[in-house]
Amino acid sequence: MKKISIAIDGTSSSGKSSFARKIAARLGYRYIDTGAMYRAVTLYARRNGFIHTDSTLDADGLSAQLGSLRMDFLPNRETGRNELYLNGENVEQSIRSMEINEYVSAVSQLPCVREQLVRMQRQIGSAKGVVMDGRDIGTVVLPQAELKIFMTADPEVRAMRRYKELLEKGEKVVLEEILENIRKRDRADTTRKVSPLKKAPDALTLDNSQMNIQEQMAWVEQKIRQLTEE
Ligand code: C5P
Repeated sequence: MKKISIAIDGTSSSGKSSFARKIAARLGYRYIDTGAMYRAVTLYARRNGFIHTDSTLDADGLSAQLGSLRMDFLPNRETGRNELYLNGENVEQSIRSMEINEYVSAVSQLPCVREQLVRMQRQIGSAKGVVMDGRDIGTVVLPQAELKIFMTADPEVRAMRRYKELLEKGEKVVLEEILENIRKRDRADTTRKVSPLKKAPDALTLDNSQMNIQEQMAWVEQKIRQLTEE
């Protein structure tokens, strides 16, 4: 079967990652979570004092260190999932906290951060047989991808999903705060100057507010069949 590249963009907590991971597993493709890469830079910036307590950023300081950051997606034998390593440390858990959620939009607006990560992502995506998810994959990172999907769902539905996820991990969370964070990130991601979240003209929209994962898989499998069996 012909191998293709699949670009999945969309709003926060729209279920992109689970969907993308499942597609990759089904096809035997590589899954790349670009949001995790922005989260990892945010974690690094936070740990190394580049994010001040008043939320301002030391962009020059961070920029000088970006070239030395190493990121690898390596399989976890127990879960069978690819997990992100930052300079050799598995950061899969630490990058998903509410604290990182707070700062990640600001860090991902920095042009130096975007340039560096887009370069890494293009290199990974240069081989076919990849499913990549993020905000600018269909528009900037892999504009040549054969299948582009733009995912979204109502903010309330997304907040409830994230709430359950964080509760399961044992974090103390308030639903209203999560909803507010999602709205804030939607605003920041869609209005920023560099690579704002927007649907590529040739992307297919998937609003999954009322769809379960099986329905979403049936939808995408049909699209993939059309593209790979021609
Ligand atoms: O997908 P996830 O919610 O983990 O992404 C975290 C944040 O990283 C987003 O809110 C967005 O600010 C940023 N991001 C981005 N471009 C991408 C992926 C994520 O700006 N390709």
